[in-house]
Amino acid sequence: MNVNAPELDDRAVLELISAHARRRPPRGIVFEVTEAVFAEFRAQQPRVRETDPDEIAEINSLLGTHFEPDDLFLSGAPVCDICTRALSMVDVVRSGLDRHGEDFVRSALLGPSFIIQIAAPESALDVVCPTCGNVNKLPQGADPLSGSDGGTAHTYFGAKYGYA
Ligand SMILES: [Zn+2]
Repeated sequence: MNVNAPELDDRAVLELISAHARRRPPRGIVFEVTEAVFAEFRAQQPRVRETDPDEIAEINSLLGTHFEPDDLFLSGAPVCDICTRALSMVDVVRSGLDRHGEDFVRSALLGPSFIIQIAAPESALDVVCPTCGNVNKLPQGADPLSGSDGGTAHTYFGAKYGYA
């Protein structure tokens, strides 16, 4: 859904998107937003799990990208259901590649547009644990802005794409 027209008020668009993140739409919504709205929404997310330089290097080698450490983060600290290993942005990217392919992941993370995807409450992010192979179904939950419980645990952001 396109809400990046210059006539729209940034604060009003942010409120619209945040309200959908709190109430959760019956089906996922993809909002195409301006850079300013994207930056502000991204800044509102808790940055619980930063992506360290080694992980960034691995992601860049997987995707042929040039991300900096600040570009990618998880808003929570998800762990594997079975072995409790901490799951990272590398695991999210690898799982995305397995599931959707390189073109999809690259275009999701690199644009050309600024995208905020608000997931339905029952949607789950599938993240494969590299230690034990378990496919973790990380539920999106209710409020992505409420802290590290519930939805926040499973929100992730790139430089031009956010899944909340
Ligand atoms: Zn595991």
